[in-house]
Amino acid sequence: MAEKHQHDAPPSPYLEKRRTAAETEALEERVRRLENLLTEKGIVSKKTLDRVVSIYENDLGPLNGAKVVARAWVDEAYRQRLLADATKAIKELGFGGLQGEHMVVVENTATVHNIVACTLCSCYPWPVLGLPPTWYKNPPYRSRIAIDPRGVLVEFGLELDDSIEVRVWDSSAEIRYLVLPERPQGTEGFSEEELTALVTRDSMIGVARINSPS
Ligand code: FE
Repeated sequence: MAEKHQHDAPPSPYLEKRRTAAETEALEERVRRLENLLTEKGIVSKKTLDRVVSIYENDLGPLNGAKVVARAWVDEAYRQRLLADATKAIKELGFGGLQGEHMVVVENTATVHNIVACTLCSCYPWPVLGLPPTWYKNPPYRSRIAIDPRGVLVEFGLELDDSIEVRVWDSSAEIRYLVLPERPQGTEGFSEEELTALVTRDSMIGVARINSPS
């Protein structure tokens, strides 16, 4: 690992250049060897490793968050439980665990717009949103969202009226935030499943709104 150490290199791994094909191959080979060693020595079973991979591929992702949002839209009692104790309410739908142990849901209204960031690193609610998008982990978003949230939103294509209050929530190792977006107009007759399909990842981070389906 020492062969290319640069003292002027940025300390954050997010700033590193993307790997070349050869570097990726070398990394994959290293992972294979590590995996073999761990399983050969009986430290971890192949089954456990497969289960971890499967969790990241199938069980975590923004669809979980979308189900939480849609439920809150159709079930007022659930919405209130969600805003009062998000961890518990999200658990009702079967989602929770690593990186989602202490959830807080913040609600967008006609007068308040919430945005989530992690100014320090990349904290993100994995059980309901999956793994964070690259831009979420990058320094430009992390620093600018706190300084000029309206300007950043414009770059995402969302222009907010000056009368709307913008709140930026800084995630931490302890607390992970999820935005409850506003239910779009024209969805009065929609089923919970149809509503779920409308909810986007970005709307639950707060960098987008959910457009009316019409
Ligand atoms: Fe973080």
